Amino acid sequence: MANPKSIVATYACPMHPEVIGKEGDKCPKCGMKLVKMIEN
Ligand SMILES: [Zn+2]
Repeated sequence: MANPKSIVATYACPMHPEVIGKEGDKCPKCGMKLVKMIEN
């Protein structure tokens, strides 16, 4: 166990939920910046 707080937020395109990435990424389909998503 390296870090108990190693939860990485998922970023996704608001228009294309299948497009996911990390902070600063842009959607290759529409060019929008990915927004933070919380998955549970
Ligand atoms: Zn998109």
